[in-house]
Amino acid sequence: MHNILVVGAGFTGSVIARELADSGHYNVLVVDERNHIAGNCHTKRDNETNVMEHVYGPHIFNTSNEKVWQYVNKFDEFMPYTNRVKAVTRAGVFSLPINLLTINQLFGKTFNPREAEEFVAQLGDKTIAEPRNFEEQALKMLGKKIYETFFLDYTIKQWGCHPRELSADVLKRLPIRFNYDDNYYHTHYQGIPRNGYTNLISNILDHPAITVELNTRYEREWNGKYHYIFYTGAIDAYFSYAEGRLGYRTIYFERFIYNGSDYQGNPVINYCDKNVPYTRVHEHKHFTPWEDHDKSLFFKEFSKETEGDDIPFYPKSLPADKAILARYKQRAQSEFNTTFVGRLATYRYLDMHHVIDEALTVAESFINYKNPLASF
Ligand code: UDP
Repeated sequence: MHNILVVGAGFTGSVIARELADSGHYNVLVVDERNHIAGNCHTKRDNETNVMEHVYGPHIFNTSNEKVWQYVNKFDEFMPYTNRVKAVTRAGVFSLPINLLTINQLFGKTFNPREAEEFVAQLGDKTIAEPRNFEEQALKMLGKKIYETFFLDYTIKQWGCHPRELSADVLKRLPIRFNYDDNYYHTHYQGIPRNGYTNLISNILDHPAITVELNTRYEREWNGKYHYIFYTGAIDAYFSYAEGRLGYRTIYFERFIYNGSDYQGNPVINYCDKNVPYTRVHEHKHFTPWEDHDKSLFFKEFSKETEGDDIPFYPKSLPADKAILARYKQRAQSEFNTTFVGRLATYRYLDMHHVIDEALTVAESFINYKNPLASF
């Protein structure tokens, strides 16, 4: 048996630990510096309302990857769930992502899909050939009015910088629809685990060859004690920030109990105007529509730059960050018995289904003695 250390008990670390344990050749120790497993997917029952709380903000599982969908369904029952988001703007309340209802309401029209597509194409800025950033992407694709109503202020609030500084890829995450489909995602499968993400990840880690130690901060001196290490923490922290800090946004919440059964009538409402300081409000009972609760729990979500021990959420990936990352990647090449894998260790904006897919691939190639550094 080989002793493996996995640093981080989020999806990436847990899936790798499980795959290695299942292969029958490894004992795996999983350490996490927090007092719970599941990383930012952590869920727990709120004491006062008994609502399943998404402690680090809403997590709605969605994927088009059949293998990933089958995988997560082995560890809990996924309940049908479709993410439908509303946006409060200066011009009123709208449906997101931008769809035919949004366009018709914003412009006071009754377009059909073809008319709406032609209309929005007219609005697009034709002087932009190849969008170089988020703003240009939005102006080219949607025009000034849609951009300013939904994206400009929200993006400044969420990212703490002007959309001109951000990559066009950030906007490309969102679909634009010329029909009335208001499903936030365009993936084939969508759902929420019946018993929450922490239970699901606990089931992944439930294996005789896996030991989990919480409240344990990894130290590089331990490396010699293990045959191999999978590190899923922040890459800059691993190297003690020797090349500088990578830019991350963190989010934080104001938490409220509502003494009624429905505070806002929807799971997530975005606030697209700069006069409202928070980006969105999430009401967690709506993430379990199969449960009844008399009281409700909701969070106002704010965003800021990380400082000190703040939890990193969104990699900003500005040009300066990319230069720093290149230097960390260089250093990572010399860590022969370590793979850097997952959202934080590779400094990428990844969803849950992406990290599970990569974790399965990395584990498989490790077990087969192929190239375990595949993910970086
Ligand atoms: N966005 C926006 N207004 C909204 C929703 C999204 O400006 O009401 C922008 C914002 O910059 C965000 C990006 O579109 O980062 C992608 O949206 P998504 O919902 O994927 O953001 P997430 O919260 O998952 O990063």
